[in-house]
Amino acid sequence: MDAYRIKAYAKVNLGLDVVRRLPNGYHQVKMVMQSVELHDELTVEPAPEGIFLTTDAGNLPTGKDNLICKAARLMLDKYGISQGLRVHLHKNIPIAAGMAGGSTDAAAVMKGINRIFCLGLSVPQLMEDGVNIGADVPYCILGGTALAEGIGEKLTPLAPLPPCHILIVKPDISVSTKYVYEHLDAQDVTNHPDIDGMVEAILAGSLPGITDRMQNVLETVTVSAYPVINDIKAKMLGLGAEGSLMSGSGPTVFGIFQSLAAAQRAFDQFRREYPSEQVFLTTAV
Ligand code: ATP
Repeated sequence: MDAYRIKAYAKVNLGLDVVRRLPNGYHQVKMVMQSVELHDELTVEPAPEGIFLTTDAGNLPTGKDNLICKAARLMLDKYGISQGLRVHLHKNIPIAAGMAGGSTDAAAVMKGINRIFCLGLSVPQLMEDGVNIGADVPYCILGGTALAEGIGEKLTPLAPLPPCHILIVKPDISVSTKYVYEHLDAQDVTNHPDIDGMVEAILAGSLPGITDRMQNVLETVTVSAYPVINDIKAKMLGLGAEGSLMSGSGPTVFGIFQSLAAAQRAFDQFRREYPSEQVFLTTAV
């Protein structure tokens, strides 16, 4: 079979709540996930043996620590495939940004292996395998708008978002997901997001109902360490965003705009004022 190209979409969290810390150290969460058009691109083809990854992202590991290699190894072993795999990753999604860049690449390579080796696995079967790579991988396989519970792997698909434009700004700082969760005291979180209300607003197709409820409890950790996150949020709202929030454990900030003209103006302004930050204008998938 010829090389197979797959888009690996990034995600933002429209709402993120931490319900409690579990005895095993994981956190029980309740989140509304949304895929965005911003994506990495993977080219996957069979090789005689081994797993070979190349990428244009200079700062990423290409050995067995890359989630692509981990996911590929899991699939090849589990399904008894004696051949190997060659993968090229064209990276667009900011790294360590709270946009599930690694998880979505893992999800994409799993879909690619299913396709090129004709495994015939269903989406739920792939999702079941994906959770062994990471809690966000099942969602990345499913995509779209979804409620995520448990450690993020219990998924309920939701209606698509009403039409809108999403501005993404990744400040030039690195935040580790591990650091953020370790510094969150789940018992101290008293102001919880109204995730149920947001789910209802999504079902009702109400953009204001959604944007009024955008809240992420992880901001309590990340914003105190990096005030620039609040500056970007305030600026987006000042430029006409209906809502603005940090995604996942950050530091990426996104804003939801109803008007394309306002979103475009905000995009241009961020590009001018924050030349070293990664700025994207995208839509929901
Ligand atoms: P999440 O939103 O799931 O917490 P993230 O967007 O914050 O993830 P990633 O971009 O997935 O973070 O990167 C987190 C770490 O994973 C990085 O330190 C990176 O080196 C490592 N990593 C391994 N494989 C990949 C990959 N294919 N793409 C990006 N990062 C990867």
